[in-house]
Amino acid sequence: MSTLSYLLLGSNLGDRAARLARARAYLAASAGEIVEASAIYETAAWGVEDQPDFLNQVLAIATTLAPDALLAACHAAEQQQGRQRVLRWGARSLDVDILLFGNEVIATPTLTVPHMALPFRRFTLVPLTEIAPQLVHPQLHQTITELLAACPDPLPVWLYKPGNE
Ligand code: ADP
Ligand code: MG
Repeated sequence: MSTLSYLLLGSNLGDRAARLARARAYLAASAGEIVEASAIYETAAWGVEDQPDFLNQVLAIATTLAPDALLAACHAAEQQQGRQRVLRWGARSLDVDILLFGNEVIATPTLTVPHMALPFRRFTLVPLTEIAPQLVHPQLHQTITELLAACPDPLPVWLYKPGNE
């Protein structure tokens, strides 16, 4: 039996769109079928603002992996693209986060699902609303559309135009 999980891809270093494409290929081969993918969006960097803009994309993936194994696949996808954790919130070649894992609520030292920042980040909610507007957050019991309408994040999110490297 597979679980539908939503992943957030992010990149703000190098050929960002190519990095997202490689991440999709890696995850499709290692984690499960990508049943839906949002458009790619561009966002000013959050937290540490003196760095390049991010590209973000949300994937719905049907996975037979357990949550910790899915997290390991996400980290392997990051490592494949040479990610180094230097500065928290700093520039990164690739970040892959688990937003949701079915309706599960998970709280271990290495994994918090639903992702803690989900209601607070416009760059997450905009692509997620595109592919799962009616999905209900398992802890907040609000739809993604409702969470976006209430999101206080002031950072603008815009559709990515290929070639803006
Ligand atoms: P961030 O994504 O916050 O910018 P990192 O990608 O470096 O930072 O992640 C730091 C740690 O967050 C990971 O090593 C992982 O164990 C933990 N983590 C907890 N919950 C999640 C989640 N839902 N998705 C991805 N990582 C998570
Ligand atoms: Mg991460």
